Amino acid sequence: MYIVSEQFSDLQGIRHGFTTRNGGVSEGYFESLNIGIRRGDLREHVEENYRILAGSIGFEYNNIALTSQVHGKTVRVVKKGGSIFTPVEDPCDALITDVSGIALFVFTADCVPILLYDQVAGCIGAVHAGWRGTANGVLREAVEMMVREYGAKPENIYAAIGPSIGRCCFEVDYEVYNRLSSVYPSIDLVTDVKGEKYYPDLKELNKTMLLKCGLAEDRISTVELCTKCENDMFWSHRRDGEKRGLQGAVIVME
Ligand SMILES: [Zn+2]
Repeated sequence: MYIVSEQFSDLQGIRHGFTTRNGGVSEGYFESLNIGIRRGDLREHVEENYRILAGSIGFEYNNIALTSQVHGKTVRVVKKGGSIFTPVEDPCDALITDVSGIALFVFTADCVPILLYDQVAGCIGAVHAGWRGTANGVLREAVEMMVREYGAKPENIYAAIGPSIGRCCFEVDYEVYNRLSSVYPSIDLVTDVKGEKYYPDLKELNKTMLLKCGLAEDRISTVELCTKCENDMFWSHRRDGEKRGLQGAVIVME
């Protein structure tokens, strides 16, 4: 039903998970644990999927905050949770909070989900980074906002990078590679080149960003699974197109 970062599982004070497509009640190409609320799936099925996750991971079904993602770099400071149908105010690609009990969700179907936790300052974050978010530094924005809003210290922050499309499958042309390389000068260390096509490792690039922000390497963990390769476990935008559900990542402070 969901995958965990072993490092995050060992930390006191939080619950988290990277959801898969398994363990829910949705049907058709939403089978079965779709958590996307605006993809055409039945409302009662999506609700039940969140209830199942709430019971299993351990958060309150009516104390949730969701992103309305646009591949931008806006971070929303969350002070209050709601149901999954509580209207989301403004588009954003990352959520942070210092309030216990609010489950922060981001959605993915190839993009990289990243969870953040500063145990000392008592705050968490959830970030969605596709290649655009990786290029525009949404993850840096989230870390800096945790520092500004809650007095977090980068060296105290733990980060868990979740399942996303891997270097095996993430094919881009020169234009995208070039955009990324202007932000990540060391991109060639984590990129394969085949003819005119480039295969950058988005998870590694986001890890590079975390290191640049001042996080300690031993506090960053990565789930190495590829969403496009692991058909039984995940939806993949590159593989499935628009006929698919959404998985995601969730974190909540106890
Ligand atoms: Zn792959």
